[in-house]
Amino acid sequence: MQENSKKKVDPYLLSVSQMDAIKDWLTEKEKKDASCEICGNETWIIQEHLVAPLIFGKSYTFGNRAYPHAIIVCSKCGNTKFINAAMMGILKQSEGETDDK
Ligand SMILES: [Zn+2]
Repeated sequence: MQENSKKKVDPYLLSVSQMDAIKDWLTEKEKKDASCEICGNETWIIQEHLVAPLIFGKSYTFGNRAYPHAIIVCSKCGNTKFINAAMMGILKQSEGETDDK
């Protein structure tokens, strides 16, 4: 439909395979107790973007490096976890680097 063609695509959305990789990682880790430590809920929502904390040096500059993290949120209380995307295996170390050569 024409409505859909006007819809902007978010280039930062995780791919289906990346979302699946996060689900697989969570399923594997949930073999241990993965309930929310605040409310005890066991349902987590995977956010559709990766984020990276700011890196601060001697000044408030935005560097060229980043540590991308996946976000999971407790569906009951909103407790939020940031998990290193490279450690989860959904992002290769090199994908997080900028190409400003
Ligand atoms: Zn919770």
